[in-house]
Amino acid sequence: MKKTTYIFGLLLALAATTSACDKQEKPTDQVATEEETAKPDEHAGAQGDALQGDWKAHDVHTHLSPYAYPVAIKVMDDNGLYRMVNMSGGGSPRYRQANLAEADKFDGRIALFFNVDWEDVDDADFGESTAAALETAVEQGFAGLKISKALGLGVKTEDGELLAVDDPRLAPIWEKAGKIGIPVGIHTSDPKAFFEKPGPENERWDELKLAPSWSFYGEEYPSRKALLDARDRMVASHPYTTFMLLHFANNPEDIDYVDRLLDEHPNVIVDVSARLAEIGRHAPEKVRKLFIKHQDRILFATDLGLRARPTEQGLQYRLTLGSISKKPPTLEDVADFYDKHWRYFETDEEAIEHPVPIQGDWKVHPIDLPREVLDKLYWKNAERIIFAPWLGRRAATSVADRASALITQSQ
Ligand SMILES: [Zn+2]
Repeated sequence: MKKTTYIFGLLLALAATTSACDKQEKPTDQVATEEETAKPDEHAGAQGDALQGDWKAHDVHTHLSPYAYPVAIKVMDDNGLYRMVNMSGGGSPRYRQANLAEADKFDGRIALFFNVDWEDVDDADFGESTAAALETAVEQGFAGLKISKALGLGVKTEDGELLAVDDPRLAPIWEKAGKIGIPVGIHTSDPKAFFEKPGPENERWDELKLAPSWSFYGEEYPSRKALLDARDRMVASHPYTTFMLLHFANNPEDIDYVDRLLDEHPNVIVDVSARLAEIGRHAPEKVRKLFIKHQDRILFATDLGLRARPTEQGLQYRLTLGSISKKPPTLEDVADFYDKHWRYFETDEEAIEHPVPIQGDWKVHPIDLPREVLDKLYWKNAERIIFAPWLGRRAATSVADRASALITQSQ
């Protein structure tokens, strides 16, 4: 599966020097067939022991810019990934159109999520008009809706108050998503440490130092609990809409809470993006149990960011791997980044480094998931919930387009 990536390596090495940084498979006893047990007991990530033919996984939470798509495809090919969700589909109709035209060149491998433009939030019909724009984008080829943490922490209405995650003005958007059958990816709140006093005693100080705006400590912000409670009320009020609660429902610090949330709300799914550092801190048996219990509703994702912009010297790339970093990452780091994910989910190693070192100076405890659970986490859940409906709509549209073209011709 791994290919020589000399040119791409050069590209990224170049990008690393020019960009300004901002912000085993071990079959289980129950499911292993004779053929599987005959395989050497090695990491799927390292050996290409793919679960889906030549492909291993989909990454359902990335941030890509259209110029970076050819490189994103290369990243996928080199790491056994078949599809990515680009959560940064665009907030303006013009950008969305251009983005879609670029993504369409890669034949179902990059799916776009719609972003909300909060500019007109005070308009009386904001909910309805955003819902209509979402529907149009989905008809054109968008695969879902992504709501950023700005909702709850940054978007203000004309009275100067923060717009709450469960504000009824937004209900038409959630209802529309349910009606047209697309998932709503929502990032609410943030890690616990970002709500605690920033400073050397804060366990995420390395990040907060580099990105001070990630701190939500202080009176001007709602508490983390208030934010999560508002989101959970919103989720409960729209039972026919699928909510993809990003970053392990943004509470991987509390595994029991995530378990309860999944129990109580059948319309909730979660992704694991950028949270292995926290998920992996818990006792591995406990986490393993949770992943097995909710095996149909947890999706593999990383929060990888890859952006490119044209400059006089050619395209300039910026890569992020789950968080900000002191030194811009390179292609070698990408392979290692994915490999640490595979090791966490697939092996029974004692304690390993987690994929995003800046997120904490501790080791995580791999959970050695059964093969059929990995298969759902990496592939089947994303196909069922995001990609199959998306590709189905696209196919239906192109059939309809062809039919109407034929009708026009015959008139
Ligand atoms: Zn993200």
